[in-house]
Amino acid sequence: MFALRRAAAFRPVVRPMSARFFNTTRITLNSTPVKTAANLAEVVNKESLIGQGAKEGTIPTDLEQATGLERLELLGKLEGIDIFDTKPLDSSRIGTVENPIMVDSFDDYRYIGCTGSPADSHEVQWMRLTGEKLSRCWECGSVYKLNECGVPQDDHHH
Ligand SMILES: [Zn+2]
Repeated sequence: MFALRRAAAFRPVVRPMSARFFNTTRITLNSTPVKTAANLAEVVNKESLIGQGAKEGTIPTDLEQATGLERLELLGKLEGIDIFDTKPLDSSRIGTVENPIMVDSFDDYRYIGCTGSPADSHEVQWMRLTGEKLSRCWECGSVYKLNECGVPQDDHHH
C-alpha cells in the first residue's frame, strides 16, 4: 500500500502545451493587475506599457505585443507624436561657437549625425553630444550643443 502511494506521488505531471500559454500570459511585477495603456494618456508606469498580446489563434500585431519604450513609441505614432524626436536637425546653417545648433535631449547625452549645410553636403559624421561641451563636426566645422530637456536624476548609469 505504502509503495503504491509513493509511486503516485512521484509520477511526473505532463500537461499538454496549450496555445493559451503563449498569448494571454501577462507579466506584472506587483500583485495588482495594471491596465495596458491604449493611448499616451493612460501610460502611468512601466507595467502599463506591457502589450496585452494577441487573441487566441491569431498572430500578434506590433501594437499587441510591443512592450516598454517600443510600445510608448507606437502609442505616440497613433497620436501623431514623435516620442523620440527623430526629425532631422536644423541644417539651414552651419553652427558656430557663438551660435551653435541646439540639440534637444531628454538625457545628458545624445548621438547626432552631421551631413553639413545644406543637408547631405558631406558623408555623415557621428558625434556624441554631452553636457555643456560644444561638439564640432570634423567635416564641415558645424558646432552643436546639447539642450537638456529632461528631468535631472541621480541614478547615472553610465
Ligand atoms: Zn558636418
